[in-house]
Amino acid sequence: MPRRCTVCDHPERHGIDETLVTGAPYRSVAKRFELSESAVYRHKTEHLPAHLLKAKEVEEAVREDDLLDQVRNLQAHALDILERAEKAGDLRTALAAISQARGNLELLGKLAGELDERPVVNLNVSPEWLELRAVIVGALEPHPTAHRAIIRALEGVNNS
Ligand SMILES: [Zn+2]
Repeated sequence: MPRRCTVCDHPERHGIDETLVTGAPYRSVAKRFELSESAVYRHKTEHLPAHLLKAKEVEEAVREDDLLDQVRNLQAHALDILERAEKAGDLRTALAAISQARGNLELLGKLAGELDERPVVNLNVSPEWLELRAVIVGALEPHPTAHRAIIRALEGVNNS
């Protein structure tokens, strides 16, 4: 169990971090917040960099989320224009809207990829999975309890 850091646990940790970031000497920070100099020094060298990194990550994620929202918004508009242009028989505008929507989709895909690098495995549309699922369910048919259980479990997988 690592020793608790009195600075990390301090209610004014953000204020302390900000003061340290401005380059204030740890001795004066310790005095100002009534902490021991060694605790502030250790916090500054060992914990502060991680906090700053985390804050930067959060800030970037928020910015990307915002960007994603804007592209989604644009996409909704493009699709709306496409629908109206099609109804009005305005093929020129419809084509322009399609091209715009395609660009938005590419951008959305790119942004989504950057936001979530985890590989997305969609089991439900994989033919191998559907086949395997049919084999498993079929094999358990003579065993009603297990059969019901596996179907329930598979439904859980589908909904997640
Ligand atoms: Zn700390």
